[in-house]
Amino acid sequence: MADPVSTPLEDARTRLKEATDLLGCDPGMYAILANATRELTVSIPLRRDDDSIEVLTGYRVQHNVARGPAKGGLRYSPNVHLDEVRALAMWMTWKCALLDVPYGGAKGGVTIDPREYSQRELERVTRRYTSEIMPIIGPETDIPAPDVGTSEQTMAWMMDTYSMNKGYSIPAVVTGKPISIGGSLGRATSTSEGVVHIALAALRDNGIDPTRSTAAVQGFGKVGRGAAQFAFEAGLKVVAVSDEYGGLFNAAGIDIEKLGAHVDETGSVVGFSGAEALDGHALLELEVDLLIPAAVEGVIHELNAPNIKAKIIVEGANGPTTPSADAILEAKGCIVVPDILANAGGVIVSYFEWVQANQAYWWREDEVESRLEERMLGAWARVHDYAKARKLSLRGAATTLAVQRVVEAHVIRGVYP
Ligand code: NAD
Repeated sequence: MADPVSTPLEDARTRLKEATDLLGCDPGMYAILANATRELTVSIPLRRDDDSIEVLTGYRVQHNVARGPAKGGLRYSPNVHLDEVRALAMWMTWKCALLDVPYGGAKGGVTIDPREYSQRELERVTRRYTSEIMPIIGPETDIPAPDVGTSEQTMAWMMDTYSMNKGYSIPAVVTGKPISIGGSLGRATSTSEGVVHIALAALRDNGIDPTRSTAAVQGFGKVGRGAAQFAFEAGLKVVAVSDEYGGLFNAAGIDIEKLGAHVDETGSVVGFSGAEALDGHALLELEVDLLIPAAVEGVIHELNAPNIKAKIIVEGANGPTTPSADAILEAKGCIVVPDILANAGGVIVSYFEWVQANQAYWWREDEVESRLEERMLGAWARVHDYAKARKLSLRGAATTLAVQRVVEAHVIRGVYP
């Protein structure tokens, strides 16, 4: 349930305002950064398998390109709307700046419930959407990647559609592709791996031994499943997980590998025999050391924040905590590691994938993983130290550091014309 009083775009702008005020920016700079540089809304006529025609709506928003080409995921969900895409694009700008990858921020979306469509229909949707946004994407301009409801296969269709129209293969137009067409080793697990690098650092820096810790993970998709798996492998006891269909609890710890096999078979965590059923909302309020929300935005809001008992929240999802919930959690002493730091592993390895594709030179998996860890832990240390020095929350510190980099790029480039 979303915060009853704010939308993701309002939340994103609230945080931007706090950062620009702290940096002493003038209102003109805030106005530049509060608005996207380019937005495209497209109609996607789809011939369904029964031969009927349906028209879907798709978006691509490029929030900012002052530091490099726009970069961001593509979401397929019935809840996709323009304001959500704008907020997600803005978060990408901050994430890329914070991790110092040479990109601006973007996001795309199609308002569709992918579970209701066949693979052949999803292929047609993806190819038509790609054709419609072709004028504004490309390896030097805007590089999509998977997000909620999309996958490596979606990226393969996008890359193929773009390449067929150009007349030659252009793997660098998307990241998160299958390895066989120029994907990077280590990309599929990179977001989850990064989340767990940060979670382990946050636990240790707060005097909590990870191997004596408990964790709950909301969402069991690309990010949540990997995060649960890596946390399990690092010795944490993962006592609860959930997906959109329901949750699971086992005080002795859930065997994540066995659960993965159950999910591959049934499509959901529900019904797994190694744990008891748990209400999805109750998962957020469990007494655990570590809570990883890795599903959708706005799930921790002012109504449930007072009941949250986790010591540390590491945001695997984008925008899971609303600003009003943040204030409540901070007052309770709960440490929140913000999305733009915690889930940046995906965009770091996307950057590595793009560099490899541009150079047609492939790195080993251990090279990718060690560079990912180095960048994640370096960013953690910078944010942690800045927060301490300035007496800011981790989110305040991360956003301010990121916004400062983007502001510097704008100031040095000047306002065109
Ligand atoms: P996904 O579609 O692979 O998985 C989403 C999961 O969340 C599914 O298990 C779904 O059942 C579950 N879910 C949806 N609504 C829920 C609810 N209300 N309660 C509990 N579970 C719910 O998506 P993903 O790629 O794992 O993305 C998850 C989040 O992580 C999103 O916010 C996304 O923007 C963010 N993110 C993803 C990546 C990436 O590389 N995929 C990178 C950075 C951030």
